[in-house]
Amino acid sequence: GRPILDVFGLTVDYLTERGPVRSVNEIDLTLHEREIVGVAGESGSGKSTLITALTRLQRPPAVTVGGSISYHPAAGDPVELTTLPDAALRRLRWNEIAIVLQSAMDCLNPVMRLGDQFADALAEHHRGISRKAVKQRIGELLEMVGVPANRARSYPHELSGGMRQRSLIALALACEPRIVVMDEPTTAVDVVMQRQILAQLLSLQDQLGFAVVFVTHDLSLLVQLADRIAIMYAGRIVEEASAAQIYTDPLHPYARGLRDAFPSLHAPLTELSGIAGSPPDLRNPPSGCPFHPRCPQRLEHCASQPPELLTIGDRRVSCHLHDGTDQSASQPSRSTV
Ligand code: SF4
Ligand code: MG
Repeated sequence: GRPILDVFGLTVDYLTERGPVRSVNEIDLTLHEREIVGVAGESGSGKSTLITALTRLQRPPAVTVGGSISYHPAAGDPVELTTLPDAALRRLRWNEIAIVLQSAMDCLNPVMRLGDQFADALAEHHRGISRKAVKQRIGELLEMVGVPANRARSYPHELSGGMRQRSLIALALACEPRIVVMDEPTTAVDVVMQRQILAQLLSLQDQLGFAVVFVTHDLSLLVQLADRIAIMYAGRIVEEASAAQIYTDPLHPYARGLRDAFPSLHAPLTELSGIAGSPPDLRNPPSGCPFHPRCPQRLEHCASQPPELLTIGDRRVSCHLHDGTDQSASQPSRSTV
């Protein structure tokens, strides 16, 4: 498909008393029509910050300090999201780009019946829609995600965690968006429920044809769900490749560590079995390659020279093992990049 969202050099700082902390660092990422792009990384890697910056939902102290986000509508010229006036942004949100965040409880209004929340969203985006049409559409949307239509009368706290999360996905799809952005949408539910929800998401994506950006710490989940996967570390993409490549042949040592940790991947990645050490303190990032203090394949110059994110064939990787600077590599090497 053609590109639907183009991100260039996106950079987000957290403004702290001791100065800015770079949390998302010059991210380039392209999402194509009907594509599912996964973003994986430990907590603190910047993946959630990336998502909120993408959708302009970040709030101070997080501030986008650079880059561009170009949205390609079905017809007409691309729209620059970073500078779009608020009113135009509101029209785009839900209609074109919908968002499902980590906790349904944070997104649903606790004192409003589920159906009324849908009705609000539908009424705002389909001016003049009749009450009857709204009611019918709400029932359809809920049933689409496996929630009985009569649950529209329930308050969020009357629903199970799984139903709440499904309802949130239905709400996101209410205005037929072209892009759905999701941040750990299933972390609050158990593994069986998680699998059901994701299977449903895949079948809806297939039917409705929206593109997805899906952020999670759970790489094993992305391997099943995504077409392409970007691995984030210390605010940067360190590898981007097809899901199959990340699964069978990750190039970056961090991506390899995440992949090798698969059996325990349902635990938070702070307890990674495959990778020793902890994520870097972004207030005081390591010199050279940010992964070098933890890297089992570290080279001499890794501590002093930051690797660049280079395109190798149909993937991208940021590591001196793959940029032709590895003096110890027995030749022939991929030395011309
Ligand atoms: Fe490891 Fe060096 Fe590659 Fe960084 S650049 S991941 S330290 S080998
Ligand atoms: Mg997060």
